[in-house]
This record gives sequence, structure tokens and C-alpha cells, in this order.
Amino acid sequence: MNHPKRLRRPHPPRDLGGLHEDVIISVCPALDMPAWVHGTFIADDASLHNPDHQHLFAAMDGDVGFLWASGAYVKHGRQVHGQTEQLAFRAGGWQKMRMEQQFMQWFGMHLPSFIITLDAGYCGQASDAEFCALVEHELYHIAQATNNEGMPAFHRDTGNPRLTLRGHDVEEFYGVVRRYGANPEVAELARLAAQKPEVSRVSIASACGNCLKLVA
Ligand SMILES: [Zn+2]
Repeated sequence: MNHPKRLRRPHPPRDLGGLHEDVIISVCPALDMPAWVHGTFIADDASLHNPDHQHLFAAMDGDVGFLWASGAYVKHGRQVHGQTEQLAFRAGGWQKMRMEQQFMQWFGMHLPSFIITLDAGYCGQASDAEFCALVEHELYHIAQATNNEGMPAFHRDTGNPRLTLRGHDVEEFYGVVRRYGANPEVAELARLAAQKPEVSRVSIASACGNCLKLVA
């Protein structure tokens, strides 16, 4: 792929759905996102290049699809602005047929293996740094799988990295840290938090659906 530097940041369509407090959520594919992600974070000359996403180099060619959802949803009392999932149709027969047809209408015959859904309402008004932070958060949920020896795994046919979903680096309660101190992951987080950010300091008021899934 040949991507020019500093691609224009994708924006959700203005006419997407409407914010309803209950459930009505409109969704559409964000087809310009993969090229922007590649050109912004992944390509060797990407404007905000992050080597942590190197295993996604080939994946932006159709293996990761993006959707805009017209608004956030609320989970465990927090608004969710992004979510990463492995595309799976947990259905059979006509149910599966319907779901597959929907995704083919969005992405074509070659369906992505992973879907990143972004809150169009939040992303439409987010600063560049906030938007990048949210997108990179979701990208971090897609890791390279490992084989039985714990080494990075690759697809035999294509040679591309095998990808898998992962949770967050740190899962802990403030109260546990307050009472018992920091475990190594929390200590590392504290160390990084005290440093100057590489890209920009944003207050991430947003939450990710994957994070909140882990809340018991
Ligand atoms: Zn998350």
C-alpha cells in the first residue's frame, strides 16, 4: 500500500442516526479508517508512527474493519466510545445468512476478522489527540497471537501475523493499590503516567467496551 503522509482525519457522516437515550443506534462502515490508521500509526513513515502496532501492518488491507455507531452506549455506568471485537457469527441458518449479508454489504465479500466500532458522536467532536488516543486504545486490543512456545505466531499461507484479542495491561482497583501498593503492572503504569506523553496529554473521559467487559 502506498499512503501519503498526514492523511485527512476521517469524520463520521453528519446524518448518521440520531442520539437517542434508549437504544436506536445507526451504524455504517468507516471505509476511510484503515488507510488513515496505516498512514498515521503503522507505516514506516507514519506521522505518529508506533512500532507497537507493527503486527497490524498487513491487517489494514481488509482484516480490520471500522464502523461508526451514531452514539455511545452505557455499560456499567460509563459511556462506551469504542469497542474492538473479533468478527464471529454466533448463529446458524438464516440468522447467520442475514448477518453475513449485512457485513458483506458494508465490507464486500472478504470480511474483516476484527471490527472496531467507534462512537460517531464522540469522534465527531473529539480533538485530534482524543481521537488518536481512542483509536490507538482499540488497536492495542488486537495483539499478535503466540504459539505453544510463546513465540509470535504467523499464518502459514500468507506469512502474516496471527492476531488475537487482548485485554488491558493493567487491571486493578484504586482501593487495592491504596491498601496494598502497586503490583509491577501498576508500578509501570505509574512510571509511564509520570512521563511526558509521546503524542499529547489527553484526559480520556471515554471508555472502551472491551475494558468494561472485564468489569465483573
Ligand atoms: Zn479497552
